[in-house]
Amino acid sequence: MLIRKAMQKFPSFCGLYKMNSQEELKEGELESFLSAHRPAIDDLLRRRFFYRPSFEIYGGISGLFDYGPPGCALKREVEDLWRQHFILEEDMLELAGTNLTPEVVLEASGHVAKFTDFMVKDEEDDRCWRADKLLVESMKEIINNKDTTEEVKEECRKIKSLADTYKEEQLHEIFTRFGIKCPGSGRPLSYPKPFNLMFGTMIGPSGRQKGFLRPETAQGIFVNFKNLYDYNRNKLPFAVAQIGLGFRNEISPRDGLLRVREFTMAEIEYFVNPSNKDHHKFQNVAAMVIPLFGQEQQELQTPPIYITLEEAVTRKIINNQTLAYFMARTYLFLRACGIKAEGIRFRQHMKDEMAHYSSDCWDAEILLSIGWVEVVGHADRSCYDLTKHAEKSKKNLLAAETYPQPRIVDFIDMKPNKGVMGAAFKAKNQLILAKFQELSELEKASIKHAIEEHGEYELTIGEESFKLTRDMIKPEVTQKSVSQETFYPSVIEPSFGIGRIIYSILEHAFRERTNVKEARSYLYIPPVIAPVKCCVLPLSKNPDFDQFVDQLKETIKRKSLSCEVDDSSTTIGKKYARCDEIGIPFAVTVDFQTVSDHTVTLRETLSMTQVRIPLENVGKVIQKLVFSQMTWENVQCTYPAFATEGSTN
Ligand code: AMP
Repeated sequence: MLIRKAMQKFPSFCGLYKMNSQEELKEGELESFLSAHRPAIDDLLRRRFFYRPSFEIYGGISGLFDYGPPGCALKREVEDLWRQHFILEEDMLELAGTNLTPEVVLEASGHVAKFTDFMVKDEEDDRCWRADKLLVESMKEIINNKDTTEEVKEECRKIKSLADTYKEEQLHEIFTRFGIKCPGSGRPLSYPKPFNLMFGTMIGPSGRQKGFLRPETAQGIFVNFKNLYDYNRNKLPFAVAQIGLGFRNEISPRDGLLRVREFTMAEIEYFVNPSNKDHHKFQNVAAMVIPLFGQEQQELQTPPIYITLEEAVTRKIINNQTLAYFMARTYLFLRACGIKAEGIRFRQHMKDEMAHYSSDCWDAEILLSIGWVEVVGHADRSCYDLTKHAEKSKKNLLAAETYPQPRIVDFIDMKPNKGVMGAAFKAKNQLILAKFQELSELEKASIKHAIEEHGEYELTIGEESFKLTRDMIKPEVTQKSVSQETFYPSVIEPSFGIGRIIYSILEHAFRERTNVKEARSYLYIPPVIAPVKCCVLPLSKNPDFDQFVDQLKETIKRKSLSCEVDDSSTTIGKKYARCDEIGIPFAVTVDFQTVSDHTVTLRETLSMTQVRIPLENVGKVIQKLVFSQMTWENVQCTYPAFATEGSTN
């Protein structure tokens, strides 16, 4: 309700679309509807070629999928909406970096050392499982076993919710304690080992330049920070977005598009001064209420809380305004994609689940037939990435902000005795003096402390080290007037998995018609992202219809709307059913009346109602419907209803 109010208050902020309030169910009902219909959903998506396993004629490769025509069109529409909703609406810069990434970049970011999942194995046949996922499945089995006591169930629920926070020894202890064995063979599980998820390769023919396929798009943005900052005329805060592929060698890919090895990501890096993470548009969303499944609710195993974002930020449940702002924008985006309100929640990372440098993380999760699934991560990454790349590349990745008035600040002057140092270090002395200029106040403070306490300090520059003594430097706290501060910006990152969003859209779009002769399934995808906007259907193969079909195609395409023609000889009822199955929101039928008065029927999928409309108006009416500038009710008030026989619908 509050969200709806916010949307009315800020129509431009909410974009071009309206929310779909149709058929909203309770969380439990939604979950059981989706899991009961999973086989039908999978069948529809395969049959109508939304996506299929890649290289299927050779048996397929797990974790790789090809999008067929409707899937590909839906993906493009979702990405377009994302661009509109985030990049255009929020004035972001867009970047297109490469997939191939040299090792040094991923060493600096920590991926070479730490981008791992724990893996357990059946040592005899080499089958592998991701340890936390196997743990979750095993806990579910124990919980569902009727012989399990309430006390054990309670413990298993806790373990299940914390599965991805455990270290290897904890995982091993739990597997052993619950007697969990290799699925299928029943043989003992190996000790959990970290497995790096990156695909390695060699760049160039020498075999010396190691590289990886990027596991996320973010690093391409960080390494370009200085160029982007300059492009933005050295102003903070600003955001950079990138849509592109990410590659992860998942240990056990599964659940179709949900866990794959190559997937499209849409990532935003919002660079902000760490001392002020307020957002200038926060007031636009402050009154919104989104379900927050915080650390406390997860600990206590209680449901999500519903409070305004204003309150969540004030009470420090969400760390800062910018993080909360993007969570709200993500919520609105998911709703615009047709995700049902009761199937969205924001889950906060537990303290030991978060990277050590993160101050707060919230995943947008969607309820699907397999339970809650993370689709968008929102992380406050602090200044970790820029600091690491600056250290490794030795480039200046600092930002500067000019104060309105100069400020007097304390700083440490190293006070070098150049004569004594020159005699001791000879040609290297210039190098050391230059190094003094680069030291942070923190580093200078520790040198000062060492000189005062121990009389000496070992300064390292690259591979060499130099002993500084009391007679060489006399570090001293002094004051200076400064007109600007320099700092590494903090980064707030919303990171979207486009494949997971597409799959969620399709599950949430799935409906069944029971008010027709033969129950049948269909997809209701919001028109703005529907893969095909409209279908033109000649009632029969009568050649008199051809010129009208061509004319319709022309008028619709001139509005840049996608359109299909079904001129097969099947019945009109079957043609409608085929359109409905792939989520085409509107169908135009050419019939005998068209030949005499140049009108056609226009049908809306969701209500199955039709109007009679002059052919020449079709393009502009569909365009307005797609972009929510007109509702179907408006159309029904403007044009006469066309009564249909139940059997043809
Ligand atoms: P992460 O960088 O791990 O937070 O991932 C960002 C987003 O990418 C997640 O919220 C998912 O939507 C998506 N994602 C991550 N791993 C996969 C995968 N193996 N298959 C599909 N989508 C993924």
